[in-house]
Amino acid sequence: MRQSEYFFYTLREDPKDAEIISHKLMIRTGFMSQVSSGIYNYLPMGNRVILKIEKIVREELDAAGAHEITMPMIQPAELWKRSGRWDHYGKELLRVKDRKDGDYVLGPTHEEVITDIAGKFLRSYKQLPQTLYQIQTKFRDEIRPRFGLMRSREFIMKDAYSFDIDNEAMTKSYRKMRDAYIKIFDRIGFRYKIVKADSGAIGGSMSEEFMVLADVGEDKIVSCESCDYAANIEAAVSKQTTKSCRSEMPIETAETPNCKTIEAVSKFLTVSPETLIKTIMVEADGEPIMVLLAGSDMLSELKLMRKLGAKDLVPASEEQLLKLGLIAGYMGPVNAPDIRIIADSSIKEMKNAGCGANIEGKHFINVNYGRDFKVDDFFDIRNIKDGDSCPECEGKLKIMSGIEVGHIFQLNDKYSKSMNVGFLDRSGRRRHFLMGCYGIGIGRIATAAIEQSHDDYGIIWQTSIAPFKTNLLSLGKDDEVLNFAEKLYSRFEEAGIETLYDDRDERAGIKLADNDLIGCPISIIVGKRGIKSGYIEAKIRRTGEKKQYSVDDIDGMIEWIKNYR
Ligand code: ATP
Ligand code: MG
Repeated sequence: MRQSEYFFYTLREDPKDAEIISHKLMIRTGFMSQVSSGIYNYLPMGNRVILKIEKIVREELDAAGAHEITMPMIQPAELWKRSGRWDHYGKELLRVKDRKDGDYVLGPTHEEVITDIAGKFLRSYKQLPQTLYQIQTKFRDEIRPRFGLMRSREFIMKDAYSFDIDNEAMTKSYRKMRDAYIKIFDRIGFRYKIVKADSGAIGGSMSEEFMVLADVGEDKIVSCESCDYAANIEAAVSKQTTKSCRSEMPIETAETPNCKTIEAVSKFLTVSPETLIKTIMVEADGEPIMVLLAGSDMLSELKLMRKLGAKDLVPASEEQLLKLGLIAGYMGPVNAPDIRIIADSSIKEMKNAGCGANIEGKHFINVNYGRDFKVDDFFDIRNIKDGDSCPECEGKLKIMSGIEVGHIFQLNDKYSKSMNVGFLDRSGRRRHFLMGCYGIGIGRIATAAIEQSHDDYGIIWQTSIAPFKTNLLSLGKDDEVLNFAEKLYSRFEEAGIETLYDDRDERAGIKLADNDLIGCPISIIVGKRGIKSGYIEAKIRRTGEKKQYSVDDIDGMIEWIKNYR
């Protein structure tokens, strides 16, 4: 591609509204441009990358036996009413009306449409298993679109759906997709982790996320330093280690004036926070609940909501506390009002703990579960901390940030049941399909790739998804240089090397800076000094390593470029 004829521009300045490096670099390299909040144009440079990512995804899904289809972006409300999600999907679902006042949605995902297809055409067990996919534009009216293509409102997703006769077959289809995802993300060159995910919201039994490791990632992931255990912090658990064999001592009251936080109490009583019980009052769907945690732990609201099956969880209001006779800062489970008490499982093991006495300025010490207070349910509801113990081995857990690029689910019969679709099994009995669903964010992959691979000068594309493999530059106006660069360009084209040829009438400094900014894996630099000495310089963007090729060894250079990965 001749740069002089290409739709090509770069910007020297970072866009003001971009917070993260990938967003800045995508705008500066003409990868994309914004149309409206969370809505973008993919310009030629970016479009090439998007198409490359899609190609890898297609190749691996086809190889795994999935079949590509295309479903509409606009979906009738009727399907969403059948699944029940018309009433439950929040404001991310953009609802629109047509001229006949009919209700439609802009598809944020396609479980309803695909389940309807399966119901119509997959009638017998003989037609199963079946996995269908599409690569298509989705719309989600995200509350906070940000970070460019990482969290946009309109975005391209690959979504796949599997249909199976039973649990065993569903698990097999799931494994196949999981393996295909590993191949996809390996080919893209990511450093990533597959983590257990929380599948509560969408239902189903098993769910994993593919997380690209990057500091800007919006997800927190927990992984073990010694074994393979890895989970989204929302789903992660840790091993209980605080087992005390001390014997129970008599309960006592301690004066704790102006000590309304765990920190203040632990300082005042000179005890460590782990030995105190933290008491939190919440309202879950309106019901007041007392929640107990070790003083050093934080509550995972999401885990608690899932355990309670609650839709809404808020801190209890002051009026509620007043009504129950509770005093903020001095609450505790001993002599508590008659309400439900939920405790983290660590509380069961605590011996001779401290907690609020439900009296202003006082705490109890030597408090013990069973003897001094009751608990209705013990759940794992604490957030994991760095250094907690792995639930599967003796190792320590650490917390990292990740970008979720893919998500796979076993849905079981959630949609086939709610939409009442099924097939006839071997014995002629009608059964609901067991389904899986599998998403990949195409645009988010591009942002994640840049987050993991850039330097102060610009992007460093992995060869597999680079817009062009090679950037050929001619520096200066010397005829010999221009002629040689032209010759190289036509030889590269003949050899099928994707080349961006900087034939622009621009200063060398600008060409070199643009070359680093756009970050093609290889640059071939044709300058006057080189030509005079009989050598051409090839540079690897990732390592900065330089190679020299004799002007008579174009074949050797082409061979090397072709083999470079
Ligand atoms: P998130 O938790 O980041 O909102 P999600 O769980 O809603 O993601 P899924 O419904 O599983 O995402 O969608 C499948 C994939 O689509 C995600 O793994 C992600 O790569 C991509 N994706 C989801 N929402 C967006 C978005 N707003 N912008 C870009 N990509 C997205
Ligand atoms: Mg989302």
